[in-house]
Amino acid sequence: MRGEDRLLELQELDSTIDRLELRRRQLEEGGELAAARSIAEDAESRLGEIRLALDAVGAEQRRLEHEVDSLEQKAAADEKRMYDGSIANTKELEALQHEIANIRERKSRTEDELLERMERREELEARAKQAEQEVAEARAGLEATGGDAARELDDVVARWTQGRSARDALVPEIDEELLELYEDLRGQKKGVGAAAIVDGVCQACHEKLSALELDRLKHTEGVKRCEYCRRIVVFA
Ligand SMILES: [Zn+2]
Repeated sequence: MRGEDRLLELQELDSTIDRLELRRRQLEEGGELAAARSIAEDAESRLGEIRLALDAVGAEQRRLEHEVDSLEQKAAADEKRMYDGSIANTKELEALQHEIANIRERKSRTEDELLERMERREELEARAKQAEQEVAEARAGLEATGGDAARELDDVVARWTQGRSARDALVPEIDEELLELYEDLRGQKKGVGAAAIVDGVCQACHEKLSALELDRLKHTEGVKRCEYCRRIVVFA
């Protein structure tokens, strides 16, 4: 049949064109760009949360530092009163000593709390640093993906155009009926209508044809088809 020997060439072109069309759709939908954008947004939102927590712990720290200072001043003032002769009797002195002890205890507890906030702040600062780096990486990734996608799309469109014109030049070389069958099979069988037979194996379904069948195919005048997948086969 006319053009039977060109069928594999056509199949290869069609498979290439199909792959390019799929890739073109993917690039035009911008799925990879959207994914990169979402990664960058997530990283930014994580950093935002850490910064809010840092602000809150900073305010707490300042409040506690202020409290420690004022407790210290209060204790110092009371201690001064103990020795400046202004206390007249033992009962008053005992009450003052008791108050000083209370203030010192409160101060010590406040200092413990302050230390806890400082540790938390250090931990948050380390996390913020890491999150900042993640944001920088994600933004760089987003820019790169945008550039890569635009370049790849140009390339895909150029190769697709080439493939189409090669196909247009090849099609008139092939018998119309054979072409029709090939197109039908392509529609039914995942885009593959014709396959080579290499060492007796159909390269589309990978089944080994029997010696009898191979012999029959070699001597047939009509279209040769794989006994398993029914695709058109061409002896390589
Ligand atoms: Zn097959």
